[in-house]
Amino acid sequence: MENTHQTTCCYCGVGCGIVVKTEASGQLSVQGDPQHPSNRGLLCSKGMNLHYTVMDQSDRLLYPQMRYGRSAPLERVSWDAALERTAAVFKTFIQKYGPDSVAFYVSGQCLTEEYYLVNKLIKGFIGSNNIDTNSRLCMSSAVVGYKLSLGEDSVPVCYNDMEEADVFYVQGANPAWCHPILWRRIEAHKAANPQVKIICVDPRVTDTARSADLHLPLRPGTDIVLNHAIGRLLIEQEKTDTHFILDHTDGFEAYRKSVFQRSIAEAAELCGVPEASIRQAAEWIGFSKGFLSLWTMGLNQSVVGVNKNLSLINLHLITGRIGTPGNGPFSLTGQPNAMGGREVGGLANALPAHREVTNARHRQEVEEFWQSPVKIAEKPGLTATELIEALADDRLKAIWIINTNPMVSMPDLNAAEKALTNARFVVVQDISSRADTLAFADVVLPAAGWLEKEGTMTNAERRITYLPQIQIAPGEALPDVEIIWRFARKMGFERAFPYEKAEEVYREYTQLTAGTNVDVTGVTYDLLRQKRSIQWPYPANADDSTQRLFTNHRFYTANQRAQIHTVPDGNASEPTDEAFPLVLTTGRIRDQWHTMTKTGRVAKLNQHLSQPFLQMHPADAEARQIRDGQLVEIRGRRGTVRVKVQLTTDVRPGLCFLPMHWGKIGTGSLGRANNLTSTLIDPKSKEPDFKFSAVQVQAYVKP
Ligand code: SF4
Repeated sequence: MENTHQTTCCYCGVGCGIVVKTEASGQLSVQGDPQHPSNRGLLCSKGMNLHYTVMDQSDRLLYPQMRYGRSAPLERVSWDAALERTAAVFKTFIQKYGPDSVAFYVSGQCLTEEYYLVNKLIKGFIGSNNIDTNSRLCMSSAVVGYKLSLGEDSVPVCYNDMEEADVFYVQGANPAWCHPILWRRIEAHKAANPQVKIICVDPRVTDTARSADLHLPLRPGTDIVLNHAIGRLLIEQEKTDTHFILDHTDGFEAYRKSVFQRSIAEAAELCGVPEASIRQAAEWIGFSKGFLSLWTMGLNQSVVGVNKNLSLINLHLITGRIGTPGNGPFSLTGQPNAMGGREVGGLANALPAHREVTNARHRQEVEEFWQSPVKIAEKPGLTATELIEALADDRLKAIWIINTNPMVSMPDLNAAEKALTNARFVVVQDISSRADTLAFADVVLPAAGWLEKEGTMTNAERRITYLPQIQIAPGEALPDVEIIWRFARKMGFERAFPYEKAEEVYREYTQLTAGTNVDVTGVTYDLLRQKRSIQWPYPANADDSTQRLFTNHRFYTANQRAQIHTVPDGNASEPTDEAFPLVLTTGRIRDQWHTMTKTGRVAKLNQHLSQPFLQMHPADAEARQIRDGQLVEIRGRRGTVRVKVQLTTDVRPGLCFLPMHWGKIGTGSLGRANNLTSTLIDPKSKEPDFKFSAVQVQAYVKP
């Protein structure tokens, strides 16, 4: 007998609805859900092949395992044994060195319930803020940008704005590959409305750039110079909204002075793009009715990521293009539940419902709600890269890694590997034995995967979708939320973690949002099953989703005015020099997801690009006598990578591109892009500078 279920794709932040068909034989099939408003029946190559990742269980972790000493083999143990040992180790460290000696490192692929519960455990019961997420590596600059300018981490737009805009300003993003279904909506809109313009700002000629009406292949690190130049032109050409600026913003005068410090010619020279292209972009934006900007890692993964975000959001604030159909700054989320994690406070500096650990009132509200036996610490905890540094110098004694694979995704992997090797106690909770991080675990906990657990996720447009449990997890694998509540009880917190179902956890979280800007007290599992999805805020008395925020132009700042921040236009990335004259940028390819623990198992997806490669400009190759397809060695200040080279004018001279997906498994340590990436982080968001590392490239000659 065949059964049909509605769920959500577990890859990117587009959050496409999926219809899963299960047969008694165990066969599964997937198709896009025509009823889901995000994708309207469409799926990209990754989504279309999701069922293969479920049907092939060959690499699944089936039982809890432990070892004493990293060189010892992992041995199967019971859940009780694994969690009791972990609780004993955590308690010992906490007693001896204090609560900040332990930490959790979680993932934008965790469900909202899991995110919420682990956050409650460490912040409200262990008494440390040492929980951070791999979303720190991709989203945190946007979070800070929104907070500083709009008052809170709140995405103002919705996907329906794709059909309302007539100018798309895509900066530091390649949605054609990384958010494909959203991109198809933009393409369809443009096909039906030829006057629609797409401006793509990217140092590479990506598929997005190829479809754009205007491509600005700027020099890496010059995004702020470009945005300031566009801001200056909008002011000069009187395309700003004076009423909006006067009534709803602060900071315009300082901004105006700042952007007039550079001429357009000077900006064009610095960015390495024609002056006419900057003028064209400004003209289209100025005359548009709907101006939508889209961005991802090209802005966020930078040592000046927050400043880049602010410089882009400023273009919306000076033109008043926010809170109306087709207008607004839209940071696309990379992971399926990066947004849900932000809502429940799954960052080292945050508390549920966009509260902050540094705010005494917020701490008190949450402590009272949780009936915490400890005070919530007022100092932010360690962020992603800081956790690794703290393991390296033994400030941090134990780390519990949930659903993420830092031994592929962290910057400066050689240093990260040393830190995890020397760590006193490491717990890895995952679904797959393909995760490189497993090699560093003292305790391995098998987690239930997609279709095997229930819960909720929030996509990039604040849309919450319910994911039902459709099948039983293999072996003894458990839903992550259950692993956390079982552990909390072993730690002695039975009364505060009495749950039997994920739904109880979700209900508790929604109560904590009452009266906040992310109020979801009206959202229940039943309502989500009935409505399919809901966009927050959705308070108890709501009868419909909130499509757009700030429609009344009152922002979440103390004075309800948006803040135009004047930011310097420089870049503080590591310098290139004679030894390392090229800039390396890393990124995704179309058919792989993150560290390939799921997509790497699907033959169809591996057909696209099956091996890591370096893209390099022919002029740079000629100067080094490098031939197309040759094995090259890429050396940086922190490590080396050896891959075949692809010569292409799709990258600017002086720039190289390396995909981020590959780890040790399958390529050896020389296939890992993050051997080379910089340890610099944005001082405000703590997001790493993945898009700018100084390297040298040479043909590889076997010694
Ligand atoms: Fe999944 Fe994203 Fe593809 Fe949609 S666009 S099917 S959410 S990977």
